[in-house]
Amino acid sequence: MWYERLQRFLYGRYGTDKLSIAILVAGLLLSLIGSLLFWPITLLADALYIWALFRTFSRNIPARQREYAAFLRFWTPAENWLRKKKQRFSQRKEYKYFKCPSCRQELRAPRGRGKIEVTCQKCHNVFRTKT
Ligand SMILES: [Zn+2]
Repeated sequence: MWYERLQRFLYGRYGTDKLSIAILVAGLLLSLIGSLLFWPITLLADALYIWALFRTFSRNIPARQREYAAFLRFWTPAENWLRKKKQRFSQRKEYKYFKCPSCRQELRAPRGRGKIEVTCQKCHNVFRTKT
């Protein structure tokens, strides 16, 4: 019974997305900062929680999708950058990373091969580097 009522309540509502989660995480950080430094900051955190709840239960789905698209325009490059850094860090023992001196394209080569000649995949510039 309560489950059906909950389903009826949630029907046609937007639900969560990465933006709502990002807002909640920002709220948590502000709560923490507020409780350590200056309590009025926690009010801002509460406002963020309310915003995230509002988005989740909103029936104005096109407006929420527009917000989400705007959020993804800067979030996706940031996420990709972070993923690249993470991959680079986890492979730091197997691969050496370097940039092509002419086009700045990021390249990698297996470590422990001594001096090698590299041909850039992007601009076909040939240069020597140590791995
Ligand atoms: Zn290049």
